[in-house]
Amino acid sequence: MHSKMSLQIHCGIMPHLPKSNLAPAEDRLDLSAPIPGAIDELPPSQRGEDISESNILLANPEALPLRDLSAIVRRGGSTHRHRVVIVAPHPDDETLGCGGAISLLCNNYDVRVLVISDGTLSHPNSQKYPAPILQSIREGETLTALAILGVKPEAITFLRLKDGSVPTLTSVNFIKAKIRCQDYLKAALPDTIFIPWRFDPHADHRATWQLIQAAILSLGIAPQTIEYPIWDWDTQQQQQRTDLVEISGWRLDIATVLDRKCQAIAAYRSQLGQLIDDDPSGFCLTAELLVNFKRPWEVYFEKIL
Ligand SMILES: [Zn+2]
Repeated sequence: MHSKMSLQIHCGIMPHLPKSNLAPAEDRLDLSAPIPGAIDELPPSQRGEDISESNILLANPEALPLRDLSAIVRRGGSTHRHRVVIVAPHPDDETLGCGGAISLLCNNYDVRVLVISDGTLSHPNSQKYPAPILQSIREGETLTALAILGVKPEAITFLRLKDGSVPTLTSVNFIKAKIRCQDYLKAALPDTIFIPWRFDPHADHRATWQLIQAAILSLGIAPQTIEYPIWDWDTQQQQQRTDLVEISGWRLDIATVLDRKCQAIAAYRSQLGQLIDDDPSGFCLTAELLVNFKRPWEVYFEKIL
C-alpha cells in the first residue's frame, strides 16, 4: 500500500450507474477481442494517467453486483489447471486488495503472486530498520500472509524495484522493468491476472498497471485482467474526472474466508505500527483505513472490451 495519507470510508450518494455496469459479465465482455495496440500509442485515457472512474464506482460499493468466484474467473485452458497471477505494487497490497480472492482461488487454481517494489519507503527514517532489513521483514510478512491464504513460498516472486520509484511509461528504466515483468509472465502464462486499478491515486500502483499492461502487450497474450482498488477508497485522494473509460465493477463474495484474510492482514506487523517504533512519520495502517479491507466482499474492476 504505502502512503502516509489517511484513508476514509467513502460514504457518498449512489450515483446513477450505466446499465453496462450492472449487466452480467458474460454479456458485456467479448473474450475473443484483441488487446489494443502498443501501450505508448494509447490515448492518455487508456494509459492510466489522467482520469478516474472508480470514484463513481466506489461511491456506494454495496450497490455493485455481488458475485462468487465462478462468475469472474471465466478463462482457462482445458489442458491445464487455471493459472492466476496476483500483482502487488507493494508487499501488502495483494492481501489488502485481493486476500479473499487469493484464499478462494487457492482451493482450485494455480495461484502465483508477483510483488513489484521492495517496500522500503514505509519507514525511511528508522535507524533500527534501514532499507535492507525493512525489505527482509516486509518480504517475510508477505510470505507469512500468503501462507495463511494458501500460497506456497515458491509461488511468490519479489521483483524488488525501488519503492516509490516504480517506472512509468516516461521513465528511462521503464523498458528494463517491463522486460523483467515480461519474463515473469512468459513463464507464468496466467489465464487470469489481478493488477492494481489503473487510476489508483498512488503513482506506484498506476506504474505497476502500466508495466504489466505493456508486458502483456509485448508478449501477445490476453489474460483476463481484473483490477483492484486500494487508495481510491480515500475520498481525499480521489480525483474527480469527467473523461471516463468504460469500466464495470462488481464485488466478490469473500465471507467464507474473511477470517483468514484478517489473519493475513495481521501478519503485516511492520505496517500496523506493531514493530517499528523509531520513525514517527512512518506509514501505519489505521483501523479507520483497514475497515475498507475487512469487509465480507472485495471490489474489482474490469474494462468493458
Ligand atoms: Zn501499495
